[in-house]
Amino acid sequence: MNVNNLMAELERKHPGENEYLQAVREVLESIEEVYNQHPEFEKAKIVERIVEPDRIFTFRVTWVDDKGEVQTNLGYRVQFNSAIGPYKGGLRFHKAVNPSMLKFLGFEQTFKNALTTLPMGGAKGGSDFDPTGKSDAEIMRFCQAFMLELWRNIGVDTDVPAGDVGVGGREIGFLNGMYQKLARQYHTGVLTGKGETWGGSILRPEATGFGALYFVEHMLKLAGKSIKDKTVVVSGFGNVAWGASKKAMELGAKVIGISGPDGVVFIPNGMTAEMNDYMLELRASNRNIVAPFAEKFPGTTFTPGKKAWSIKCDIALPCAFQNELNGDDAAELLKNGTWCCAEVSNMGCTPEAIHAFQKAGILFAPGKAVNAGGVATSGLEMTQNCMHLSWSGKEVDEKLHFIMESIHNACVKFGKQADGHIDYVKGANIAGFMKVAQAMLEQGVF
Ligand code: GLU
Repeated sequence: MNVNNLMAELERKHPGENEYLQAVREVLESIEEVYNQHPEFEKAKIVERIVEPDRIFTFRVTWVDDKGEVQTNLGYRVQFNSAIGPYKGGLRFHKAVNPSMLKFLGFEQTFKNALTTLPMGGAKGGSDFDPTGKSDAEIMRFCQAFMLELWRNIGVDTDVPAGDVGVGGREIGFLNGMYQKLARQYHTGVLTGKGETWGGSILRPEATGFGALYFVEHMLKLAGKSIKDKTVVVSGFGNVAWGASKKAMELGAKVIGISGPDGVVFIPNGMTAEMNDYMLELRASNRNIVAPFAEKFPGTTFTPGKKAWSIKCDIALPCAFQNELNGDDAAELLKNGTWCCAEVSNMGCTPEAIHAFQKAGILFAPGKAVNAGGVATSGLEMTQNCMHLSWSGKEVDEKLHFIMESIHNACVKFGKQADGHIDYVKGANIAGFMKVAQAMLEQGVF
């Protein structure tokens, strides 16, 4: 395999889709050496096949806003790869959603889901609908209109969507209600991230953040360190940032910063449980600004226009959006003494930032390993739905612990370098790729 030739071909097929191309390049560079030791992969053209989505659905979503105006958005579902199980992955509602973003996310999802140890293929979907400033009634009407198109392409054993940026429990509720109405199927398992009383996993809201912190704990332990009393900064204030802060606090860390698109809040004495709860309220307000946090809690300060990475901290956890931590941010963190960065958002760091962290030799782990606890818990929710039972929070948490440990072990197995250093980027990419590639090889060419 020749990475540059493959990338040139991909650029020809997907011109200008930079996020997608960036995600593919990272994986190809990681797996090149191992791939070339497997002539059977080369013969079956696994890599040429694995970088292309199986299929993409694009549809118009028309709905009526509170003023009675007709609005039209675009909706998508990218079914990326089903070699190891039914398509699985979130729906993102954000004004910047486009095919490139969803292909990148679907591609990442394929390898992430492979890492979870569960049988789930990769998919992603969403819309350029912007939830900012929308009323609950508008969100409901949009979700219903979105499902009016999507429902024919999903199903318990074909494709199981979930939440992502802009899609949480409220949206999954509206989507699920409409799905059941249209399909006349009352199986609880066609979406995950459902409410506790209608088939949801009791731990799904916390799972991405909790899983990320379990991964960080393993990474730190192997490096002879502990998270206790360390300072942590998270970006964002949504569901993922909430869960990550909650678990970081439980493990004895001090969460000293959160951020939003409008700026950063510095919390000198560390986040309290009350502040952590308030993050959910802030998100549910649909205003997408973090400034009210500082107004509510005296002693915390809001700085407009600044990123979370301007705060001096031990551990940086990007929890919001792709490419939210760039080369300059990495330089600032390193100057301030940060010694660990774990991506909780998908592709949260730019390639320049990752190279800077790796060059400096600090602990770094990529999103597809760190944030896999979310989709893993979705996989557990699917299992519960198929078995028509519900596990307790303790049972789900134990399984999540086991899965995050397995993912960490896989990263170590495939990412251990000659000098003993663990390259978590390589480790996660190779471990995920090997599983999907083997499954594709064994099932023939089609
Ligand atoms: N959107 C989440 C992710 O990026 C969760 C997907 C799911 O639960 O299916 O993995």
